[in-house]
Amino acid sequence: MKFGAFVYEPEKAAGFDFHLLRVKVETGDRIPPVRDMYSNVAVFADNAAVRSHPDWISQSPLGPARMGNNNFNIYWSVVCATQPEHRAEQLDYIEDVDRHSMGVWLNSQYFADHSHCTCPRCKERWKKSGLGWLEWRRKEVTDYMAQIRERVKKELVMSIQPDPVTSLERYGVDLDDFAKYADAFNVVMFSKNYATPWYWEMLARGFKKLLKKPVYISLYVYGPGDTAQDVPTASELLTVSVRCARTGIDGILYLANGAGEMRNFQKAAVDKMALRKRLESYGGQPVQEVLDLVKNWEKIVK
Ligand SMILES: [Zn+2]
Repeated sequence: MKFGAFVYEPEKAAGFDFHLLRVKVETGDRIPPVRDMYSNVAVFADNAAVRSHPDWISQSPLGPARMGNNNFNIYWSVVCATQPEHRAEQLDYIEDVDRHSMGVWLNSQYFADHSHCTCPRCKERWKKSGLGWLEWRRKEVTDYMAQIRERVKKELVMSIQPDPVTSLERYGVDLDDFAKYADAFNVVMFSKNYATPWYWEMLARGFKKLLKKPVYISLYVYGPGDTAQDVPTASELLTVSVRCARTGIDGILYLANGAGEMRNFQKAAVDKMALRKRLESYGGQPVQEVLDLVKNWEKIVK
């Protein structure tokens, strides 16, 4: 195994086999590459590019890929993955970064998330391609990876989202296509700050894709022998419920030792008024169904 330090500042941390520097981050900010470090480049997630060119933002039926659009797991503003000027500028930039460092590790080199992008150019390109929607998105992403590969002479590493099953549906990423151009993969798992509901949503998406019958999931509320420290909070359960609901699963079970523990959870969930309000923006009808369930609990726990 090899161990690396992945850093935002151009100083090598002691005690690692290799060093990866974030030369272009999702804010769009750039710092110069360093000769004996690898360079990490965020390609389409680029707040600065979207600020300068608001019409470049990736579009979808659930709104644009703007920071704060809670329908998606989007933490930055994301440029449409077929935007020709951005693509060209990034190719030149990536080539230059490669020349001045040990190689390039890409981030966000694909569509923003599922159902992106529906801007007029993408609709036009899709129509002209004669391909199905998912196949067209795959081709757009893969063709761009081929162009990047031609520019990068040193190591090229593809960072991918932690979703091994529905990367094609969500990002247009075919992992075997990527393998043709990548020297290695990097699965970004990052911060507990946002990762935990991400994983449950990802698992629900994966099982909904793989299983050939309706899919229920069970969420632990309070199992036999659990203590208060072992179990999720009502806020965590509500958030995970809506994040999983929007994946298209067919039902959710809440698992508790008995009706007493369940009632405590229901009461705590009902009391989370601000969170319930915020979660309304996390998706369409399935999310509403979760929130309606909690609304119905108001009568029970009074
Ligand atoms: Zn587009």
